[in-house]
Amino acid sequence: MRERVTPLLSEAQIQVRVQELGAQLTRDYAGKELVVIGLLNGVFPFFADLVRAMDMDLDISFMQVASYGGGTESTGEVHILKDLDRSIQGFHALVVEDIVDTGLTLFKVGNLLKDREPLSLKICTLLDKPSRRKVQVPVDYVGFTIEDHFVVGYGLDFDGKLRNLPYVGVYHP
Ligand code: 5GP
Repeated sequence: MRERVTPLLSEAQIQVRVQELGAQLTRDYAGKELVVIGLLNGVFPFFADLVRAMDMDLDISFMQVASYGGGTESTGEVHILKDLDRSIQGFHALVVEDIVDTGLTLFKVGNLLKDREPLSLKICTLLDKPSRRKVQVPVDYVGFTIEDHFVVGYGLDFDGKLRNLPYVGVYHP
């Protein structure tokens, strides 16, 4: 499968950008009670690198939703497979995602989390594909804006595989 991947963002490029985002988030959330929410599974390497680039006290929690039924197109339906293990009421919440494509996943997750009355709710994504957007979602922090490619690696999969590539590449089926 790896032979079908063309590198797009190197490990070094990703790490530089993650450190920048971490520094920015540290400034923006200074003195605030923050819960960083990771959307599994794709976010795991980005999440681990990002929270370690944040020089502040914070809590973490994870949620898993399914929007792609194993293919490469969003179904528009979002099922909660795993919910947060804690309340976010009275906390600032930062949702961390691997990639925003149509926006449907974050639109639904955002609405759901807003109902739980956090003090604020913001979104941070490693990758953004704005050309594919179907619903507008406010993405507050973006690692890289990319063209309409199907990308894999650094958490992103094709059919469950390739999440462990240390870089991001374009997958050629
Ligand atoms: P959205 O709901 O914004 O269309 O899609 C969000 C989810 O779709 C992401 O969390 C990710 O799981 C999946 N996704 C969207 N684009 C890509 C892509 O280029 N590559 C991979 N591997 N997954 C993608």
